Amino acid sequence: MITKTIEDIELPQSSMGNARSLKIIRYGNKANGKKAYIQAGLHADEPPGLLVMHHLMKKLDRLDKEGRIEGEIVLVPVANPVGISQWRDTVLFGRADFNTGVNFNRNHFDITDQVSDDIKDRLGKNTVKNVTLIRKSMSGVLAAMSPEDESAFLKHRLLSLACDADIVLDLHCDLMASVHIYMGTPLWPDATDLSAEMGAEVTLLAKESGDNPFDEACSRIWWDLAKKHPDFSIPAACLAATVELRGAADVSHELASKDARGIMQFLTRRSLIEGQAAEIPALLHDATPLRGVEHVKAPAPGVVVFLEKPGATVESGTLIAEIVNPVEPLPEKRNIQVKSTIGGILFSINIDRYARPGRILAKIAGKKPIEGKGKNLLTL
Ligand SMILES: [Zn+2]
Repeated sequence: MITKTIEDIELPQSSMGNARSLKIIRYGNKANGKKAYIQAGLHADEPPGLLVMHHLMKKLDRLDKEGRIEGEIVLVPVANPVGISQWRDTVLFGRADFNTGVNFNRNHFDITDQVSDDIKDRLGKNTVKNVTLIRKSMSGVLAAMSPEDESAFLKHRLLSLACDADIVLDLHCDLMASVHIYMGTPLWPDATDLSAEMGAEVTLLAKESGDNPFDEACSRIWWDLAKKHPDFSIPAACLAATVELRGAADVSHELASKDARGIMQFLTRRSLIEGQAAEIPALLHDATPLRGVEHVKAPAPGVVVFLEKPGATVESGTLIAEIVNPVEPLPEKRNIQVKSTIGGILFSINIDRYARPGRILAKIAGKKPIEGKGKNLLTL
């Protein structure tokens, strides 16, 4: 029996007579096992994940016909109908809301306090029952909220769809980059198989990265609740990750099909798909702290010439880029060298080649936390 269903949720109108909708595709049934939730395009100008969704759906359609979906798999292939309609001239601006300037993957709802109040007298010794109680409470707290603004409504709806899942994958991409993954520190090393299957060069861990991105809205509540209720057993019950599928121009059927295969292997190993998962591929590099990422910044304006590519292992003092300003009067300032200050893996560089002072040119994952980074570890 085919279990696939397609639902359209209408978003509140932000302009007269123009309502956008969110498409949700479901396979299987949660009553039969675990739940996985996968979305793409929350940053609407990041296309690789959208193509991966196409390949995932082809694979899941086939498995569904064969009756091999165990548990429930929920896909939101185009997670941001607001951002994907934000064209200016010939360019799509899908990262931040035109209306408020807020990044679509920041400031997701943090319902920890409400859930904590709701469950505090009902937690018990049984871990499984605590997980069920917390998931029900999260759904209840979210159901009692009714954001009016279109983007807030969208964020609320996405979290409502994902909050009770065992696995949440939020598919993104960087500018020019290797595959890298963000997740909560308590999820490692359990999630090693995800990074290995996706061929991630870098896995970045933080207990709290600041500004509450979507994956953290789903996962961090578990360890925050465990901290608030130390006498009860509360596991990190949601393995949520932001998966950065290389750079924005890395869009091909070959890559997307490979990424979809990696996700399917992961879901099979996690008992959402019937069958035997292949042996876990070798993990390319162990996870490192998000606080250990060096943002290599431009000290001056000019044209950027990169001398290293994403994926390179660099040392402290490696020449990453030169900034060339042909109208700078002082010859020694006409060509400025930009060097790394830590050793690690260069996993992302900027896509355009203009520098201005303070602009991030490259990101390097180092093994040790960097002092003085402050509370917010993510870029804008
Ligand atoms: Zn993104």
